[in-house]
Amino acid sequence: MILYSSLILIIVDMTQQQQQDCILCKIALKKIPAHIIIENDKAMAFLDAYPLSKGHTLIIPKSHYSKIQELDEDSSQSLFNILWKITNPVEKASGVNSSTLAIHNGKEAGQEIPHVHIHIIPRNRRDGAGPVHSMFKNKPNISSYEMSSIVEEIKKSLT
Ligand SMILES: [Zn+2]
Repeated sequence: MILYSSLILIIVDMTQQQQQDCILCKIALKKIPAHIIIENDKAMAFLDAYPLSKGHTLIIPKSHYSKIQELDEDSSQSLFNILWKITNPVEKASGVNSSTLAIHNGKEAGQEIPHVHIHIIPRNRRDGAGPVHSMFKNKPNISSYEMSSIVEEIKKSLT
């Protein structure tokens, strides 16, 4: 019985760390080559293999987490520390002054690989992409009363 529960613990631990069929886990484990820029204990940055512009970079936690809110605090700090550190070097090396920083957080938000990844997409005036507001074709009308209710609901869940 003790052995059986240890086995379950090991399996649970493995699925939380890495998923076998996840391409970003494979890159984190160096099973798939990538143009790696920087890494620390918990996160790494590398060039997107299907770039939207020159220098398009991805930053990922090394462990498998589907969404931002699932990250442990250490992984979150490591991830955003790399973002903070490399955004300027990525822009400079790409010869631009701007970039779009994007996270698709969940399937309905356009996340195609269910492993957290932050895009740094170097931008210029001729790239054909607009501001994030141009993504939304059906903008809702939300009253001030509804906005206050949403704030209250969010605050209730904050710990
Ligand atoms: Zn993964």
